[in-house]
Amino acid sequence: MFIDKATIKIKAGDGGNGAVAFHREKYITSGGPDGGDGGKGGDIVFVVDDNLSTLADFKYKRKYKAPTGADGQGGRRNGRKAEDLIIKVPRGTIIREKESGALMADMSTNESFIAAKGGKGGWGNSHFATATRQTPRFAKGGAPGEEWEVVLELKLLADVGLLGFPNVGKSSFISVVSQAKPIIADYHFTTITPVLGVVSLGEGSSFVIADIPGLIEGASDGVGLGHAFLRHVDRCRMLVHIVDVAGSEGRDPIEDFEKINLELERFNPELAERPQIVVANKIDLAEPEQLERFRSYIEGKGYEYFEMCAPISEGTKEVINAVAAKLQTLPPVRQYEREEIPLDTLLAKQNTGFTITVEDDVYIVEAEWLIRILCRTDLDDYESLQYFQRVLISSGIIDALREKGIQEGDIVSIYDFEFEFMN
Ligand code: GDP
Ligand code: MG
Repeated sequence: MFIDKATIKIKAGDGGNGAVAFHREKYITSGGPDGGDGGKGGDIVFVVDDNLSTLADFKYKRKYKAPTGADGQGGRRNGRKAEDLIIKVPRGTIIREKESGALMADMSTNESFIAAKGGKGGWGNSHFATATRQTPRFAKGGAPGEEWEVVLELKLLADVGLLGFPNVGKSSFISVVSQAKPIIADYHFTTITPVLGVVSLGEGSSFVIADIPGLIEGASDGVGLGHAFLRHVDRCRMLVHIVDVAGSEGRDPIEDFEKINLELERFNPELAERPQIVVANKIDLAEPEQLERFRSYIEGKGYEYFEMCAPISEGTKEVINAVAAKLQTLPPVRQYEREEIPLDTLLAKQNTGFTITVEDDVYIVEAEWLIRILCRTDLDDYESLQYFQRVLISSGIIDALREKGIQEGDIVSIYDFEFEFMN
């Protein structure tokens, strides 16, 4: 079965803990603090792998967790950074945050994408020594790694999408115009994974055609064509609609043509507006009157119209030339814009529990959910900072600090962010 959508959980590695240790040497009675820092947790990184054509792997493995950073040690030895966890996806995969639906990345270029950042390692006690605090007996725990539930959706990258009922000759067409070798058979649903064919036009120019899975079970029983397969033509620049003009399976070609366009329209009206070239296939089986009837109907509707017999390459060159000419006038393949995960969603989604520990007038606030907000807060930006402050107030953290007896000028420490408390 062709899998083109999957929901998975990803969790970046937690940071290692900072160490509490003191320098020890013979004859030296009390050495200074020398606990090293914890190592950073591994990131979750998505990369494109062109050997993949479906999201099937994600049906069986739904949880991905990157390793934890190593703890710090005495002698100022810092813990090792953990390895990143690499997740391979087919080109054209869209990654969305599940809760908000925000589009995190469009994996259509070769750029990798860090979807969840590993937690920073906690500071060892050597960081906390001050003139008045010479033997800090505390260190910080590593910060938790980011955690998301994400929806992966494959939206193929192709210039041209092939449309048409099963068995009309789509696979035959792509196999004679490109290097792609799809299965061609006279039963339905033969195309179970999308096939991309590169059509070269000479002089180094080429375009990509997608033969899309015919997930059209039950179409002949009047169940409907189903929308799932249309996702894949979403970003095609144009469509080539192939019709069995001979009606060799007992259907009417005009009805076929209208049914598919109706489905397009229902799925996404914008898709129905996409430039479309109509190709009558199986002309070897058609009577002249059948051809004439279909041709005049299609041309009457203002479409560019072609005829072919795909298996013997009759008429296919003309189709390719028309497609190439049309593509010249069209914008490039669509890339989806990244969207910010709304801060409010972040806040609403998290349980807003926290702990506060006080060590020598340093108020250490720990809350897993806060890290995600902190990661996305630009501390040099006034508005972001304001927002962050509001979060501290609305979550009750400020009140809790007061209850613990915080005074003006005391330090509030939230992972690697520290500030002086002001009333
Ligand atoms: P798809 O399901 O749309 O991909 O259709 P295929 O390319 O797999 O073709 C389905 C069947 O129709 C196969 O048996 C093909 O050999 C046959 N076929 C495709 N094009 C033609 C054509 O132009 N003439 C004839 N006679 N048969 C064709
Ligand atoms: Mg096919």
